[in-house]
Amino acid sequence: EERIISAHMAEEDATVEFSLRPRYLSEYIGQTRVKENLKVYIEAAKMRGEALDHVLLYGPPGLGKTTLSHIIANELGVHIRATSGPAIERPGDLAAILTNLQPGDLLFIDEIHRLNRSVEEVLYPAMEDFALDIVIGKGPSARSVRLDLPPFTLVGATTRAGSLSSPLRDRFGVVSRLEYYTEDELTLIVQRAADLLGVTIREEGAVEIARRARGTPRVANRLLKRVRDFVQVQGDGVITGEAARDALDRIQVDKMGLDRVDHKLLLSIIENFRGGPVGLETIAATIGEEAHTVEDVYEPYLMQIGFLQRTPRGRVVTPKCYEHFGLEMPT
Ligand code: ATP
Repeated sequence: EERIISAHMAEEDATVEFSLRPRYLSEYIGQTRVKENLKVYIEAAKMRGEALDHVLLYGPPGLGKTTLSHIIANELGVHIRATSGPAIERPGDLAAILTNLQPGDLLFIDEIHRLNRSVEEVLYPAMEDFALDIVIGKGPSARSVRLDLPPFTLVGATTRAGSLSSPLRDRFGVVSRLEYYTEDELTLIVQRAADLLGVTIREEGAVEIARRARGTPRVANRLLKRVRDFVQVQGDGVITGEAARDALDRIQVDKMGLDRVDHKLLLSIIENFRGGPVGLETIAATIGEEAHTVEDVYEPYLMQIGFLQRTPRGRVVTPKCYEHFGLEMPT
């Protein structure tokens, strides 16, 4: 079952995402520091007529890394070629992409931490010297030939900067961390999306959706679409605060943006392990997910809102979390 608050791109998002996607920095809400710095670097690269330095964007899923990379290409006035770590299987695949770039183009690699080693090794000279080393022939007569590549900008995106090998990380001139969005920023994002979708929304409606969107624009857009369904079918088509609250309660996204899976995760720590500490693998097993999914996707937000802590002995639920569920802490 797909979670409505999942930050992962679902198929139904793809079409709408495209029309909602901001195209220039001026339309991109929030992430102020990242945006202001990028603006300077883009301007400077354009003044010098050079490719922009390579950029690494990291942070939890759904915060707009893909959107931002398209914006960077638009602002530079260059083409973007988008791919992902797992999609580039062999060194030859990457070589083919690189040799097809035009000068100044942007190559976007999502989930760049999942590139395999042999592919990564092709990337080093490409990033550093705009060169491709290829081996011709086999055995004793084999020799290496260096081909020039057009200057290009690599934009890498990852949810885990820590999983990047250090030779790769060191080759990025710009490293930017995207943060969860504030309630005010998400309110603006919801209002902007409602406007583009042609839905009437009151300020309190937008705030209500923003509050439950887990700091994540992609979640905000998805909640907005579900609330819109309810007001169109059962209401007068206007998203008021009350209409938003009712719809969100119906789809079981609570006041903190937590859904049934979050509840299960947190309550199982409370009920079965007296609030913890409990190991990641055990938590993953209780909710039937992979440990790395729990770690990358579920936990960051629960830690951000102060409901869960990572300790050397395992995960611990906080007093704030007990309070949310109206439960007493064990003594
Ligand atoms: P990830 O960080 O996992 O790559 P993502 O970058 O793919 O996530 P996007 O798909 O780019 O996330 O963003 C999801 C949607 O949220 C976008 O299509 C856009 O509609 C909206 N969005 C994201 N960031 C912003 C923003 N800063 N301002 C306005 N809308 C945004």
